[in-house]
Order: sequence, then C-alpha cells, then structure tokens
Amino acid sequence: MRLLLVEDHTRFAESIKYGLGNESFAVDIVDCAGAADAAVASVQYDTIILDLGLPDMDGLALLRKWRDQGMIVPVLILTARDGLEDRVDGLNTGADDYLLKPFEMAELVARIRALLRRPGGALGKVMTAGNVAFDTTAREVRVDDEPISISRREMGVLEQLMRRYGRVVPKTVLEDKIYGFEEEVSSNSVEVHVSRLRKRLSQNGANVSVHTLRGVGYLLSQENANG
Ligand code: CA
Repeated sequence: MRLLLVEDHTRFAESIKYGLGNESFAVDIVDCAGAADAAVASVQYDTIILDLGLPDMDGLALLRKWRDQGMIVPVLILTARDGLEDRVDGLNTGADDYLLKPFEMAELVARIRALLRRPGGALGKVMTAGNVAFDTTAREVRVDDEPISISRREMGVLEQLMRRYGRVVPKTVLEDKIYGFEEEVSSNSVEVHVSRLRKRLSQNGANVSVHTLRGVGYLLSQENANG
C-alpha cells in the first residue's frame, strides 16, 4: 500500500512515516500543497493523509480542488483544529475521515485500514490463491491455514501478486508499490524479494508459485503453470 502524507511539520511527518512503515505501508512525505499536487499527478496512491495547516494553501482548499478534478483516492484529514465547524466543512469538501492531533499511531493505522477496506478501497479482508491466504487486516499470511513467517518486503510483493492472481504484474508496479520516493531501489532488489518469496512459499508447502516473465513482470499461479 502506498500512501501520501501531506504534512509540513517535518519531525511529526517522519514519526508518522516510521509508524506506518512498521505496518508495511510505503509512505511518501510532501510538505506543501504544491508538492502534494505534483505527487498525486505522478503516483496512484491508495490513501492520502492531509494536514489542514499547510504553508502555501489551506488543506481543505486543496482537497476541494482534487475532488473537483474527479480524484477519488480516500483522504484522511489530520487537524489540530477541534471546532465542529471545521469537521463539517471538511466532510462537505470530500474528506473520508478525520483525526484530531494529537492521536495514537494505532488509531491512525486503524482508520487507514478502514478506508482501504471500503468498497472500491485497496484492501479486501482476506485474499486467497491456492492454499495461500493473505489477511490484509491482520497482515498475516497462511499456508493450509498455518501462519508462516515472512518479511515485510516479501509480504508487500505477495500482496500485489495476490491482488492480480493469475495475471502478470509488471516489475515497475511492484517497485512503485513497495518503495517510497526517497528509498533507493537497486535494480535487482525486486528480483531479490521475489526470489526470497518464492523460496518462502515453496518451503511452506504453498501450491502456488511466482513465475518470472523475463522483461515483462511476475505472475502468481498454480505450481504446474509454465514459466
Ligand atoms: Ca501544518
């Protein structure tokens, strides 16, 4: 899951990113409305977390502009303003949820997951492929109903492959979904995570596996598929 965090308080933004990173969300931080606009134009985010007090534009005005442009990505507003009036304004403008500062990280994570689980959201509760089940809420992978141990990156790769089970996932999509902007993606790192994931699945008795289509991407399918 790739999230955009629009927040001008750098240390606060970094701490949110750290907390969400532990929950295997890839987070890009921007510190003003202009940069947020540019980021949204170039990346398909799963959710946007928007601070209302931005240096160059009011957050609600930015949100109104996005909704006017037809942007449907779920937006969660962060605000220090606690007046009910502001909340009502925000709802009318097209925010999907609110969180008042200060808040607990667990609360933010729960709200984001709730947005992603909505119809049309990026999270289904449990996805299955063969005897593999991926619980996107508990962040747990099971093979034949037995939980397996799996790294965050491998889980990120598996999630994208399971969302497109039986279809090819271009390598760039995996890169885009599992890394944030400023993290360096070495040319073979997706290959590395895919190769570890492949081993992990076979060691745990999965009856699906990851196939490489050279120069095209990756495909999760039944064990006996070609490739
Ligand atoms: Ca602010």
